[in-house]
Amino acid sequence: MKIYIKGIDDERFHRPLRLIGNLFFEETELCFSEGEASLEVEFFMKDSGELIEINGRLRAEDGKEYVASKQRNIASHLEGKDRLRIVKNTLSYVYLTILQDFTGIIQKWGILTGIRPTKLYHKKRQEGMSEQDIHKMFKEEYLLSDEKIDLMQQIVTRQLQTVPDLDSLSNEVSIYIGIPFCPTKCAYCTFPAYAINGRQGSVTSFLGGLHYEMREIGKWLKNKGINITTVYYGGGTPTSISAEEMDMLYEEMVESFPHVEKIREITVEAGRPDTITKEKLDILNKWNIDRISINPQSYIQDTLKAIGRHHTVEETIEKYQLARQMGMNNINMDLIIGLPGEGIEEFDYSLAETAKLMPESLTVHTLSFKRASEMTRNKHKYKVASRDEISKMMDHAVTWTKEHGYKPYYLYRQKNILGNLENVGYALEGQDSIYNIMIMEEQQTIIGIGCGAASKFIHPETMKITHFANPKDPKSYNDGFEHYTEEKIKILDNLFAHKD
Ligand code: SF4
Repeated sequence: MKIYIKGIDDERFHRPLRLIGNLFFEETELCFSEGEASLEVEFFMKDSGELIEINGRLRAEDGKEYVASKQRNIASHLEGKDRLRIVKNTLSYVYLTILQDFTGIIQKWGILTGIRPTKLYHKKRQEGMSEQDIHKMFKEEYLLSDEKIDLMQQIVTRQLQTVPDLDSLSNEVSIYIGIPFCPTKCAYCTFPAYAINGRQGSVTSFLGGLHYEMREIGKWLKNKGINITTVYYGGGTPTSISAEEMDMLYEEMVESFPHVEKIREITVEAGRPDTITKEKLDILNKWNIDRISINPQSYIQDTLKAIGRHHTVEETIEKYQLARQMGMNNINMDLIIGLPGEGIEEFDYSLAETAKLMPESLTVHTLSFKRASEMTRNKHKYKVASRDEISKMMDHAVTWTKEHGYKPYYLYRQKNILGNLENVGYALEGQDSIYNIMIMEEQQTIIGIGCGAASKFIHPETMKITHFANPKDPKSYNDGFEHYTEEKIKILDNLFAHKD
């Protein structure tokens, strides 16, 4: 969809306009001169220092016009980025209102296009705003629906019950460990995941680098007296390595990391059921790994085949039951709404199957077309449900979780997510994943170790974020793990200089 934008020459406003446009149409292209655009939107901006007023008018091809306007006061002490943000939000407000009228599509998330809406909620709470004022702000300035504001409020309340000291955890860190191997590659996947078969050499060298990183980071944390809040093994599929390799890795963790007994939660993604064995579950038990993920994604066999997950539905159920029998009492399962070929009936079936297992937590994702996935490259091959159906499936997930005692405890959004919806983590009472809360709310540093592991360094006082990524492919990781470790330690030294 090409949209001709008139009256906005400042390039800093083009990105928010594009993001809002993408909520309504696939791949919006903005143009700034008359031509072959299908829509024309003209803005009039009056900025008198402490008051900004924006009017907008959309002219459709049939000659019909849609208009909207918004005024916002801007406190005189606000300048730079803070002031610009208010102007951008006002412009987005006007643009969204016009496009909602024109298309008849109501965006429940209003003008919020960011990944972590609850982080903004926490920020306002930390600044001292009351629940009522936050609600009013989201509704009047961001055009959010009551439903989504209530969802955020429930999540924030729940997070503070699970992590009462959330606001003061910036002096600890969490650790993410990336293991980039999987039995096969799924069609929608953009994670660093390399089919493991025939790669033993590469796995062995990768693990050598990983042990090194764990030792060095562990040594640094011990020297500084910094504790670890949570550890998360992801990837890839961390259970795709052998039981012996897992055993040595957890032994390394216990030896290298400070005060392992104080770590609040250790999660291992056992995402693909085809990697789970009795032997590996024994190892997880041996090292007191208290949370695992076994991910069905769907209970429809044809869907699993279509997305390239080479395991059966029965295998998911069998491995889940095996994990249960062997004492695993905190199991997460993931489902995805909108997988190719699936509609409401199929999703309801997956929910009904989940009811038979009752995992401690259930993460409900909405399919997103990520740029680098096989599915996006061959989009025409995959038939996905309509916006309306996706939204109904999400409603079914909300009702089902409520009826079965699950409560939402974290959420995040993605670009190109079907129906502009969200991914929500639900958990039974007391079973929320602390790591998921930490990664979403960005209240402490997460050190990424291993392949494709992204570190997010958060300054303990200013909360300023610095990103650092380890390479995604095992070869580059093997060639440079010492360098990446050193770089991270340099950043950590700066961040925690007050600990010297
Ligand atoms: S199991 Fe997960 S990480 Fe591995 S290929 Fe599939 S989606 Fe990607």
